Amino acid sequence: MALSKLNELYGTKFEQMAIRDHADHPRHAGELTQGCVIDLNNPTCGDVIRLTVDFTDDKISEIAFSGHGCTISTASASMMTDLVLGKSKAEVLALAELFSQMVTGAKVDKDQLGDAQFLAGVSKFPQRVKCSTLAWNALKKAVQTDNHTAEVKEAHA
Ligand code: ZN
Repeated sequence: MALSKLNELYGTKFEQMAIRDHADHPRHAGELTQGCVIDLNNPTCGDVIRLTVDFTDDKISEIAFSGHGCTISTASASMMTDLVLGKSKAEVLALAELFSQMVTGAKVDKDQLGDAQFLAGVSKFPQRVKCSTLAWNALKKAVQTDNHTAEVKEAHA
């Protein structure tokens, strides 16, 4: 990718720095020893993520990710894990929806997205949208999986 394109993708200098910082020093990197394990990949770019999420009652009590991917997918996973820790399932599903609207070009209230708002420039590059939503899709799957586990437990109680 030409440098001018990269600059456009990463937005302003401040946004570039935020993305670089998360990609170079990912928050919540690693794997938990308990909780939901979700493996997802983005074949169009080669990004691979393993997200582990531990729920306590309805809230995310611990979260971690591992795998490998491009700058956008790694930064997005780092920003996402930072943002959703301690939040309820309903809150994180709403944030996932907001993020997906933002990176597909919709005007949204970006402040709710914390550092993840710095990925808004991805909307100008449709082929990179999947890099940015990979971690969020894994999170949605984790919520579904935990809901299912809870239902099964209830059915056998
Ligand atoms: Zn990617």
